[in-house]
Amino acid sequence: MKLVMLGTSAAQPTERRGLSCICLEKDGEILMFDAGEGAQVAFLKSGLGWNKRMKIFVTHMHGDHCIGILGLLQTMTLQHRTEHMEIYGPDGIEEFIANNIKSLNFGLSFAVLITAVRRGIVCEEKTYRIHCESAMHTVPAFSFLFEEKDRPGKFDLQKAKELGVPEGPLWHELQTGKEVVVGGRTIRPSEVVGQKRPGKKVGISGDTRPTKQLEEFFRDCDYVTFDSTFSDSLGEKAKETGHSTAVEAAILAKNANVKNLVLTHFSARYRDESDLLEEAKKIHGSVVAASDLLEIEIR
Ligand SMILES: [Zn+2]
Ligand SMILES: [Zn+2]
Repeated sequence: MKLVMLGTSAAQPTERRGLSCICLEKDGEILMFDAGEGAQVAFLKSGLGWNKRMKIFVTHMHGDHCIGILGLLQTMTLQHRTEHMEIYGPDGIEEFIANNIKSLNFGLSFAVLITAVRRGIVCEEKTYRIHCESAMHTVPAFSFLFEEKDRPGKFDLQKAKELGVPEGPLWHELQTGKEVVVGGRTIRPSEVVGQKRPGKKVGISGDTRPTKQLEEFFRDCDYVTFDSTFSDSLGEKAKETGHSTAVEAAILAKNANVKNLVLTHFSARYRDESDLLEEAKKIHGSVVAASDLLEIEIR
């Protein structure tokens, strides 16, 4: 599983940074969080692939987070995508996409399913859930949480062979927690299957002030990408515009026991984000400043 930061600039692009877009790739599926203008170009450069299973989650209806959806869908059509696409976002997301497709009069080569989200579980698959929580911004906005379900323990092939369990259906029985009998002896799953491995949790803040609610929402996450639009000296501006400073992101991450913090959504006024990173590092022990196309392996 890996996080790919496709766009890390706030409000307007810079020479080095594109607009908000973050992908989480897991088992060949792409979960995209926001698609600012130019997302398709960053997506192309990342090599993530045009025809993968994919869902897009939109945090809020500001242009720098959703204008890129149309270009992405259009390019995917030109790339002959056939896999359906699921899009989740605030009220208005369906109208926004439908109106644009209608006025530009373009057809898609694949089905798009659009769902307006509320707080709570947004979607659930066999191996993960996506949760949604209200953020605090200048328009209705959400934060998302990817929660991987606990993974089964490792199956000890050598041990299974030693115990005389023949390869085949009996291995599957043990892997799924059932006892099996071989040569009159009962073999328990715990003899050949290791401890369950806890699933990973990855949080995506979108644009927001730091809030107690989000601190709880992101509790114990392995990774959180958080709005770090401003440096500490522009704290008032962060309040006025419904954003956070890198310091506020670090304080929230520390309070929430987040293991690794990824700063992103930097104001275009910063040619270099090293000051913001230094400020955050004084508070939290594991912080990186995102850059476009940065890939973070999550193990
Ligand atoms: Zn933004
Ligand atoms: Zn915004």
